[in-house]
Amino acid sequence: MTNDHAPFPFVPPPGLTMAEPRHKVVIVGAGPIGLAMALELAQHGVPSVVLDDNDVVSVGSRAICWSKRSLEILDRLGVGARVADRGVTWKLGRIFHRSMEVFSFDLLPEDGHKMPAFVNLQQYHVERFLIDACQAEAMIDLRFRNRVTGVAQGDVARVSIDTPDGPYSLESEYLLACDGARSPIREMLGLTFAGELFEERFLIADIEMQGDFPSERRFWFAPEFHAGQSALLHKQPDNIYRIDLQLGWDADPAVERQPEVVIPRIEKVVGHADFRLDWVSIYTFHCRRLDRFVHDRVIFLGDSAHVVSPFGARGGNGGLQDVDNLGWKLAAVLAGTAGAGLLESYDRERVFGADENIRNSTRATRFMTPETEIARLFRDQVLALAAKADFARPMVNSGRLSKPCVYPGTGPDDPRLPDCTRPGAVAQDAPLQNGWLMDRLGRQFVLLVIGGDAPEVCGLKILHLDITEVLRKRYLGDAPQAIYLLRPDQVVAARWITADADAISTAMAQVLEGAT
Ligand SMILES: Cc1cc2nc3c(=O)[nH]c(=O)nc-3n(C[C@H](O)[C@H](O)[C@H](O)COP(=O)(O)OP(=O)(O)OC[C@H]3O[C@@H](n4cnc5c(N)ncnc54)[C@H](O)[C@@H]3O)c2cc1C
Repeated sequence: MTNDHAPFPFVPPPGLTMAEPRHKVVIVGAGPIGLAMALELAQHGVPSVVLDDNDVVSVGSRAICWSKRSLEILDRLGVGARVADRGVTWKLGRIFHRSMEVFSFDLLPEDGHKMPAFVNLQQYHVERFLIDACQAEAMIDLRFRNRVTGVAQGDVARVSIDTPDGPYSLESEYLLACDGARSPIREMLGLTFAGELFEERFLIADIEMQGDFPSERRFWFAPEFHAGQSALLHKQPDNIYRIDLQLGWDADPAVERQPEVVIPRIEKVVGHADFRLDWVSIYTFHCRRLDRFVHDRVIFLGDSAHVVSPFGARGGNGGLQDVDNLGWKLAAVLAGTAGAGLLESYDRERVFGADENIRNSTRATRFMTPETEIARLFRDQVLALAAKADFARPMVNSGRLSKPCVYPGTGPDDPRLPDCTRPGAVAQDAPLQNGWLMDRLGRQFVLLVIGGDAPEVCGLKILHLDITEVLRKRYLGDAPQAIYLLRPDQVVAARWITADADAISTAMAQVLEGAT
């Protein structure tokens, strides 16, 4: 394996010898989501203890495609540049049917964003960067080989923990369950994880191979080199390539992971034998979610709350959007500047986001792996048509790649302003005279005033910008000026062409109540 799997040291926690004072937040799980959550909370001034049963970063590449929004979130957490520099930037996807290229798509056809459409980087690298950042942050107490064995809640949350030196327990105001798809906390609370299993198996292999392969995603429907099943190829750094091959439900995982079976399959994809197998796994996929993500003092995020098939890269990216949504809300509730209604809005918004991800991922999986002959015939006809006619291309589904959802039911709007920045959407980045808009927004409420004036409103940072071509396109349309109220997670809360202080204060109060 090309990653650094040196174990992190176990440090006996204070709780082994004395009762620790009640913590604000305990996070269970140091995967990408738990680590990002700890950093997000620290940036809002909230200390946390992070417990993980393990002491190494992820085995195998797992998540490799990090979306533009995730890169913006990671950038705010201080690791965006490391991820973007280390990873392979791409935005071109190419679709093949049998041996013919059907069409290609560009995921970010416009310029004027600090972050690219996608960066491919193995999950273990991302985790490593997040761990470095957590270890450099005094507000984060990261504890390896601390396995949570029990959970209880009342006025506070309590966890029992096992370590190599014995058991201890912790109390916290909130417990964040970031303990992954098999979440023991979900299990301990007896919560149902409803959804579906796809009766399909995929071989996922990382290979190391020299060569000048372009930075693009290739997806083959029914290629001749793989007996008519689907195949996917992605480039990662360090000359590592990810290959996903559909195997069928009847494939025997024990047989299929043997190198003597895997290698000939891969040779057919890459056309030669000059590669080294780095990691092989056989997967089945589920799409599931918890009914609710907030259970009093225990809040679920990441894979513990929802899982999707990887086509569309919506697992890790969706989890980072949970972090983005929850961080400022939990910080406000802990600081007493907002009530529990704000956490309900996390539940409502991220359940909505998870459903969108599940819907997309389910549709993609069905299109790729048709369950009936009729469905296959339809799929093949769509592909044949898409090779000739533009209108059929949106029907081809090789995975709609992760984008943040637009939250419903949000605040005041003026529909004369552009659709892409309507309330509920994440603000669009734009180049400014010195740097990027995203870098100027920070992590508090912002009143973004473009081309006009706005009243002072208590507790609001005001950012005045002169009109530029990009700002006009993304924020004004034909309007002469605009005022945008942005939440700390950079989601548009409300917007006006002109507004008085009362309208702005009311919109902000509604957000803090969790009403919009
Ligand atoms: C093959 C594959 C490809 C994927 N590709 C992509 C992709 O391209 N893009 C994308 O966005 N996503 C992708 N994903 C999904 C992505 O890997 C997950 O969504 C992501 O790992 C979720 O992170 P997490 O932190 O929620 O959970 P995990 O990464 O699973 O972390 C959970 C952590 O909790 C710890 N833990 C568990 N139980 C306990 C306990 N009792 N006590 C203490 N600690 C505990 C575990 O040790 C682990 O460290 C892919 C997944 C797979 C399998």
